[in-house]
Amino acid sequence: MREKVDLAVINGEVVSSNGRVRANVCVSDGRIVALTAPDATPAAARTIDAAGLHVLPGLIHVHCHFREPGHTYKEDFETGTRAAAAGGITFCLDMTNNDPHPTTLEAFAMKREIASAKALIDFGLYGGGLYPKTVATLAAAGAIGIKIFNTRHVKEVYPYISELGVVDHGILYELFEAVADTGLVCSVHHDDSEWCKRMTFRDYIDRDKIDSAAYRECYAKGYMYGHGMVAGLAASLYYAALTKVRLHVLHLGVMPSGANELVRHAKFDLGQDVTAELEVASLLMNGEQAAKVGPFAYLWAYAPEHGWNAMASGVADMLVGEHAPHTVAEVEPGWQDNFSIPLGITGAQEFIPLMLTEVNRGRLSLETLVRLCAEQPARRFGVHPRKGTLDVGADADITVVDMNRRDVLTRANMRSRSGHTSWEGVPVHGMPVHTIVRGESVMHNGAVVGRPGYGRFTPGIAAKRH
Ligand SMILES: [Zn+2]
Repeated sequence: MREKVDLAVINGEVVSSNGRVRANVCVSDGRIVALTAPDATPAAARTIDAAGLHVLPGLIHVHCHFREPGHTYKEDFETGTRAAAAGGITFCLDMTNNDPHPTTLEAFAMKREIASAKALIDFGLYGGGLYPKTVATLAAAGAIGIKIFNTRHVKEVYPYISELGVVDHGILYELFEAVADTGLVCSVHHDDSEWCKRMTFRDYIDRDKIDSAAYRECYAKGYMYGHGMVAGLAASLYYAALTKVRLHVLHLGVMPSGANELVRHAKFDLGQDVTAELEVASLLMNGEQAAKVGPFAYLWAYAPEHGWNAMASGVADMLVGEHAPHTVAEVEPGWQDNFSIPLGITGAQEFIPLMLTEVNRGRLSLETLVRLCAEQPARRFGVHPRKGTLDVGADADITVVDMNRRDVLTRANMRSRSGHTSWEGVPVHGMPVHTIVRGESVMHNGAVVGRPGYGRFTPGIAAKRH
């Protein structure tokens, strides 16, 4: 061990998926260099005293829409990663419904450049799955995975860039073939858009039942997304088995429980290479909160037990607090017509405090949180053991949490440009207090101190092979 390290996080309880231990975490040159006994205080240029706190591997958020390029009036890489840093996130993945969308090498390279100049935390970028012929190029350029929107909203307000919706299963299949060749994970928002559209128009829009309450009813009935997503998932799992693509199922928990059964069967009975991410809103956006924020949350937890079961059974591999912000002016008309506004939700800053609150309620352990929000996302997207762990040699990405701190989620405290939170007024118990990326503090005692451009682009596995 070196005589003096750059940073020591001392006196804390260090948590991994396997358990916890009292230790000091020593950092030099942006990497973890040692975990030492609590009484062996190392000489360090800088010390963070984590007495009474828990020291976690840097938490990862794999479902962010930071809206850049193209819609920076909603959010951009600086404001989005600022929100994430405030929420204890050290590494994030950004989605692809931008303008221009990163489906070509040129657009991907441009997005990479923009994000690299503005991000406060490390990031990976999805390549957009639209043209089978560009998939290999995007992989070589460093895409962390390929995202496919197998969906078009009933009124074409999603995925905002309508042409990104791949509803033709022939093209979906060719994309799967192309992604399988790269070895990258293929993340899919599944749907059966025509079915959703027909049912939603028949029973809601054509009957002028379109306000926010009608939308939630339609959603709970499984028309708005819902059953159509499960049908889309069934087709996709079959095509994934044929093409051997490494499928990642988005929006588990948004779908009815049939989705859990399909994923369980594919993973555990058939041995397919499938993972799934679970939205915290599908666990925690209860009826009362959903009614309160109305169109400011596009999904709600109408059957939260399905999500908790998916987590307990291993059907869900990771948790996300989907961050898909829009402006208040865009969303507000949704109180009257919830079917014609862009559908969104916020979560970059709120996600971890919400889940820490559930840890305090005894719904999951900190070890499980680390598994679902650090280790497994890092493994799945090929950045482990650089990220997702506090083992020696890993990037010194560290999230320190105070399980006793209480707060209330409210728009005044949010760093997102969108100017609202879907979790307005929700009390939380357990807060991130330090976010450290490669040894540098980006959030310190609640204050975001990171600088734009510090965040580093992290390429996917296909680029590393080149
Ligand atoms: Zn999304």
